[in-house]
Amino acid sequence: MVIMTQWVYGFGGGSADGDASMKNLLGGKGANLAEMSSLGLPVPPGFTITTEACVHYYAQGETYPADLAEQVAAGLQKVEGITGKRFGDPANPLLVSVRSGARASMPGMMDTVLNLGLNDQTVEGLAALSGDRRFAFDSYRRFITMYSNVVLGLGHDLFEEVLDDHKDRLGVTVDTDLSAGDWEKVVGDYKAVVERELGEGFPQDPNDQLWGAVGAVFASWMNDRAKFYRRMHDIPESWGTAVNVQSMVFGNMGQTSATGVAFTRNPSTGEARLYGEFLINAQGEDVVAGIRTPQSLTRAGREEMGETAPSMEEAMPEVFGQFVEVVGRLESHYRDMQDIEFTVEQGRLWMLQTRNGKRTAKSALKIAVDLAAEGVISQEEAVSRVEPAALDQLLHPTLDPKAPRNVVTTGLPASPGAATGKIVFDADEAERMSQLGDAVILVRTETSPEDIHGMHAARGIVTARGGMTSHAAVVARGMGRPCVSGAGDIQIDDKARTFTVKGRTFKAGDIITIDGSKGEVIDGAVPMIEPELTGDFQTLMGWADGIRRLKVRANAETPTDAKTARGFGAEGVGLCRTEHMFFDDTRIAAVREMILADDEAGRRAALAKIAPFQKADFVELFQIMAGLPVTIRLLDPPLHEFIPHTEAEMDALAASQGLDAAKLKRRAADLHETNPMLGHRGCRLGVAYPEIYEMQVRAIIEAALEVKAKSGQAPIPEIMHPLVALGGEMNFLRALTDRTAQAVFADTGDQVDYMVGTMIELPRAALRAADLAQSAEFFSFGTNDLTQTTFGISRDDSGRFLQAYLDKGIFETDPFVRLDRDGVGDLIRIAAERGRAARPGIKLGICGEHGGDPSSIAFCESVGLDYVSCSPYRVPIARLAAAQAALAARTGKEREKDR
Ligand code: PEP
Ligand code: MG
Repeated sequence: MVIMTQWVYGFGGGSADGDASMKNLLGGKGANLAEMSSLGLPVPPGFTITTEACVHYYAQGETYPADLAEQVAAGLQKVEGITGKRFGDPANPLLVSVRSGARASMPGMMDTVLNLGLNDQTVEGLAALSGDRRFAFDSYRRFITMYSNVVLGLGHDLFEEVLDDHKDRLGVTVDTDLSAGDWEKVVGDYKAVVERELGEGFPQDPNDQLWGAVGAVFASWMNDRAKFYRRMHDIPESWGTAVNVQSMVFGNMGQTSATGVAFTRNPSTGEARLYGEFLINAQGEDVVAGIRTPQSLTRAGREEMGETAPSMEEAMPEVFGQFVEVVGRLESHYRDMQDIEFTVEQGRLWMLQTRNGKRTAKSALKIAVDLAAEGVISQEEAVSRVEPAALDQLLHPTLDPKAPRNVVTTGLPASPGAATGKIVFDADEAERMSQLGDAVILVRTETSPEDIHGMHAARGIVTARGGMTSHAAVVARGMGRPCVSGAGDIQIDDKARTFTVKGRTFKAGDIITIDGSKGEVIDGAVPMIEPELTGDFQTLMGWADGIRRLKVRANAETPTDAKTARGFGAEGVGLCRTEHMFFDDTRIAAVREMILADDEAGRRAALAKIAPFQKADFVELFQIMAGLPVTIRLLDPPLHEFIPHTEAEMDALAASQGLDAAKLKRRAADLHETNPMLGHRGCRLGVAYPEIYEMQVRAIIEAALEVKAKSGQAPIPEIMHPLVALGGEMNFLRALTDRTAQAVFADTGDQVDYMVGTMIELPRAALRAADLAQSAEFFSFGTNDLTQTTFGISRDDSGRFLQAYLDKGIFETDPFVRLDRDGVGDLIRIAAERGRAARPGIKLGICGEHGGDPSSIAFCESVGLDYVSCSPYRVPIARLAAAQAALAARTGKEREKDR
């Protein structure tokens, strides 16, 4: 017997072929429609074409599986059975929506067609059945516009022009003023537009329409905005999208019909109260597209927003009551905040979608902590619910409440946070300017999916139109960009690149500030203040700390960074790059003197000048990190980095410092290297000029002794040698370090414990870890250099070709951001194993940029490193990611994204 693949899964009428666990196959939307049907909720019947069919489509040169047509026909027949309507039947037509639905939700990125199945005959049937000719032709014209746009590739503007002409002719301004006869004429003209543009008529056969729409949804998986979104959210291209074909219900059948969206809790603040918007006599797109300004769902919501139009609670109390009950059931069932789409057709409620709602970091924290407090989920589950990277939103400054604000207008507080930047009016411009280093605020009448690259590039977004669930609001929240939406007083002149508000005109390039938590647009820049990390943040982080095994340290050398890191919960310093201390104005002169010295005696004389500064730096660092380990790395970069590069700069330096210009230039020429990253740097400096490392070791030990004497608590210095490749190097460096420390102990008559270790930044170091472990008491994986040296790709120049690799799918992600588990990861695993075998209990950490990347942290957990170290602002992210990695290790299940 041939086992056929099931490409089509039906739902509706109180049962379904699939369920919520089948997201990978049915997409999120399809799986949840199936689940809701099985729960007995009112779901318009339909079927889902699987993601596997999409994968097949792309693998087989954009062709459908052979038996798909047959399965779709059977699916359609079932829907006909449940609804009692027939697809294409002029007397009693079944109309359907065709929507995308990937495994991970990608709001607004792919295509949708509504009212499919309408043609010149069925529109008459719809008119007769509904007893509302106006509604039937309004639906038909919507269908023609959408289908022509999504499937036939015709611009919306072609149809808008026609509609505007009709409105002008009739002397009306809003769509609702058009009569049945008017819409009939509009439909006639729309069809003429299609005929004129494409040389053939608008497709009349509902089956052709259906396959056209299915093909368009599959194709939209590969459109630019979907690709961009996937890259931003790490969604693999190989997943494909499902297609949901569902019988239509109509929110535009008059005053007892409506459509809306709801969140079971507030997606901005997390407040545990139903939250949402709806529109009477409208279809779904009207809410999301921001074409009409929607009304609040609840009376409380309306009162809070100061709206006059009645809420759903007031306008449709009976259906509202039913709705509240259904959404309550959904939240308990899914045990998470739900984002719901619904329609009321002539007083009857229909559920169109439910999914775990997107939310801001603040809201995510509150909801997770509240659900745990309500006993709905465990603390572990709460910890696993919050996306670590999203915490970033909370760790950045907000506007100083005491600073004066010249508020020019207000809109809706669509996405929290504050931002200051130059005004730009278009997405490409936003991207261009931000690449040049400008902070920009994107100001648009409304945003569409075409704008997302610009929204990503901008620090904040303002729109003149649209509600809390408009495209701008939803996308900005997802990206963590502050957003003020529906600032209705703003009038944008895209051509002049200005906007006018209350008589004032702002030009592109003018500075504004927005407060997305209050919905304010403010003239000029406003001072910001540091965030306070209390309340839910502290609670959840406390739970995370109780779960994680990995310690989290910070990469920090300045007192400010070290204090920030400690405030964020760092458990020590994992990397203090001492060269950063050399660049300081007060010491760079002595550093240059050392470089220019003719012999060891000259170098020692210059180093003696630097020593007190180094010691003072370390004293401060040890004090801030009292009781915690501090890893100090000895000088790493090639010496030429400390002297100017151009002749003119060298002349200027020589003149200002009283140096010999010719000597300076000669020394610069001597130091020149073709490949400085593979040159005279790292411990090779310490081998060639041991006096440099001796000075640094002495400063570290002296500082430790001083802090011990002052505070009674000895710091725990970990002295780290960079770019070691050979056992011989490590033995030499270890001897140098110990000899110097012993000399200090002899001089001072006191002692401290210290450790000596190495970075693992070279493939040879990883492979010969056993040799290094003879002298090294710890390893810290410098995965920036290790990635560079493993791939042979320059960490400084890879930008030039990396994009091509990403575009072609050769790299899924930038290996300098997310650890390459296969190659670099293998080396880390080997080094850890061989290091441990040679020195049981050897301490292992990571201090490359990957130490703050959640997916890379999951890898570190899997190899059993002792700690990760990252930049101060990423410490909370790393704490949470480490807890999630520990939970995943316990359950044996890694997050899909981390695989
Ligand atoms: C590394 O190479 O990963 C590292 C932490 O050192 P640096 O970035 O200073 O080269
Ligand atoms: Mg390095």
